[in-house]
Amino acid sequence: MVEPRPLSRANFDSLWAAQSGQCALCGKAMPRGRFDVAHASIWKKQRPTFDHIVPKAAGGPDRLENLQLAHAVCNKRKGKRQAGGVDGRDAT
Ligand SMILES: [Zn+2]
Repeated sequence: MVEPRPLSRANFDSLWAAQSGQCALCGKAMPRGRFDVAHASIWKKQRPTFDHIVPKAAGGPDRLENLQLAHAVCNKRKGKRQAGGVDGRDAT
């Protein structure tokens, strides 16, 4: 479960502060750490993840201005939607 992205803790902290700990996609609060939730399975779904505003598949950079924080599950849902995208392009 290692995320192979060069996304830093500092970026995480500034995004977290800018969003007040809320998911950029659904607007609900995200748990900050594993022990803020009762079960590892909840953490797995709700943990904050880096979401690329312009997807990496579309050339979006790993830069702070292209990043927001979102629940893992929301991020995944968005990814799927884009994969079937309105412009018909394949996200992979
Ligand atoms: Zn969310």
